[in-house]
Amino acid sequence: MIRLDVAQIKRSPGDFARYELAVDLPPITFSGEKITFAGPVKTNLTVTNTGETLTIHGSAGGKLELSCSRCLQPFDYDYMVSIDEEYSLLPTGEANEELQTFTRDYIDLTPAVINSIFLGLPMKAVCTEDCQGLCSVCGANLNKENCGCALEEGDPRFSVLKKLLKKDKK
Ligand SMILES: [Zn+2]
Ligand SMILES: [Zn+2]
Repeated sequence: MIRLDVAQIKRSPGDFARYELAVDLPPITFSGEKITFAGPVKTNLTVTNTGETLTIHGSAGGKLELSCSRCLQPFDYDYMVSIDEEYSLLPTGEANEELQTFTRDYIDLTPAVINSIFLGLPMKAVCTEDCQGLCSVCGANLNKENCGCALEEGDPRFSVLKKLLKKDKK
């Protein structure tokens, strides 16, 4: 859990505090897919006490293990997202309804950080920009081997040759 101890800062209006945390999180299921963190989530945050709120600004970065949408191989994906949160210091009821509240001496930022990471994920992640993907005919990983199917399918000279070969067989 990405937990900020705010016991001090919440009692110091006008002050700010810096937090640098590296936290290991368990795998998470996101839109049906299991996503594993390939290392700790590193957060670098500044918490400011404005008198009525604690504002939290900073970044979260690290690596995720994703599956390439072309070749289906797992690969490490680097992310770096910005974090902007605001929590009310006023008791629940008096607080602006749009603000989040907290009741203890700490704030659990885990849901906010995970949300930011996933909002920043590409729709189709690829291991490398020039990933060749899988052969649509035999399923071979074209980054690792050249199965030859693509040649036969794509090159018109080959289809002519094929027809000739077929004629020969008759
Ligand atoms: Zn790939
Ligand atoms: Zn093939």
